[in-house]
Amino acid sequence: MVEQQADRTMELSEWEERWQENKIGFHQLEVNRMLQVNYDSVVNGRSGVRFFFPLCGKAVDMKWLADLGHSVVGVEISEKAIKQFFQENNMTYSEEPVPSLPGARLFQNSEKNISLYQSDLFSFSSSVAGQFGAIWDRGSLVAINPKDRERYAALIISLMAADCRYLLDTLLYNPSLYKGPPFFVPDEQVHGLFGSSCSVELLQSVDALTDRQRAWGLDSLTENVHLITLKAPN
Ligand code: SAH
Repeated sequence: MVEQQADRTMELSEWEERWQENKIGFHQLEVNRMLQVNYDSVVNGRSGVRFFFPLCGKAVDMKWLADLGHSVVGVEISEKAIKQFFQENNMTYSEEPVPSLPGARLFQNSEKNISLYQSDLFSFSSSVAGQFGAIWDRGSLVAINPKDRERYAALIISLMAADCRYLLDTLLYNPSLYKGPPFFVPDEQVHGLFGSSCSVELLQSVDALTDRQRAWGLDSLTENVHLITLKAPN
């Protein structure tokens, strides 16, 4: 089944076009339900956790976690998305180049401890902002091009601190009905990508079919949330 979407690619310029044309149906106005329900499992009693948001868009989840006392680092290619995040949440921000990441810019609200890097995720590394105590991956593994999944998993694993708790949201549907993104990522592939160095636990599985996906031609959609932790420190 994964083969059906294996060669589908979205260029970074196509994502930027979506932002410019406001075709951002993936953006959620409310804090993600799966994050709220599984918050305790991710935080695991810790305070002031450093959260990483790969492909962050303008997710309101970032503000929610910052308001709870955590810090947030996100990576997003679209400058428009990053600026809208701060503006829509009434936050001021500074803007500066990133010496360790040529071409990238860092947008930051230091009061709330939110740092968003405008960059291609695949240029990012732990040498830019260290490793993280938690990762919230919604609309990220499912959004990158299927052929980049191994590279993505290696990068994410390299960003995990020893105590990192990585919450991964995936989607299951019939890939012959819709070309994506978001792409179909079966549980077996999650195990294949992360299982050799991490423990993978399915925390939640819900029927997530709404009119939005019916309009794509889907007749069923399951959203799975996995908790991924390192078997041994990096
Ligand atoms: N996680 C967010 C956004 C999901 S959509 C949410 O849940 O709302 C995927 C986002 O990733 C888009 O905003 C797109 O502009 C960005 N993106 C896609 N490929 C990227 C890449 N290689 N590096 C950085 N950002 C990327």
